Amino acid sequence: MSDDADADIDVHDCTRCPALCDNRSRIVNGVGPVDADLCLVGEGPGENEDEQGEPFVGRSGEVLDDALRDRGLSRRDIRIVNCVRCRPPDNRDPTTAELENCRDHLAAELDAVDPAVVVALGKVPAEHLLGRSVAVTKEAGTLHDARVAGAPRRVLVCVHPAATLYDPSQREPFGAALDEAVALVGDDGGDGQSRLGEF
Ligand code: SF4
Repeated sequence: MSDDADADIDVHDCTRCPALCDNRSRIVNGVGPVDADLCLVGEGPGENEDEQGEPFVGRSGEVLDDALRDRGLSRRDIRIVNCVRCRPPDNRDPTTAELENCRDHLAAELDAVDPAVVVALGKVPAEHLLGRSVAVTKEAGTLHDARVAGAPRRVLVCVHPAATLYDPSQREPFGAALDEAVALVGDDGGDGQSRLGEF
């Protein structure tokens, strides 16, 4: 694990999005080992994340933690980051401009981590990473070759953890997509050797 290297890819004092800067308590940077084979990408911080400074805490974080634990993993095995690092007001979706403002922060993070698989958690990150409309309920568990700021990435579409809270039918596709991600990394960690479960 290489958390010490976080400082190299953390964002500090960014003011590109005025509405988000006015609303945020802090910039929420990615967490987890910077050499993780698996990188989960969410939409943006909500209230709990803004308060605690970590992606995917609160109820959706509990769902994610449970799912990881069911697969013998924890946050210490994966990298988690958001498309935008500052909380949108009233938990609205980030605007296209805000997503674009933060794109190079995400690209720099993915360049540094260089994961074997990027898991897009929900519609906003899936569409942001793939550059097209995505019907998550139809495409969950599908793997796509994408380019993020010019770099090739394997992107797996996944249901957002929170969706399983208000629609139990989403638990199966959520779990299946995570199983697929773990299997992909287990098959080939990019260098033929998975780093999942070493930490
Ligand atoms: S969302 Fe990203 S680009 Fe916008 S102010 Fe926050 S860190 Fe900067």
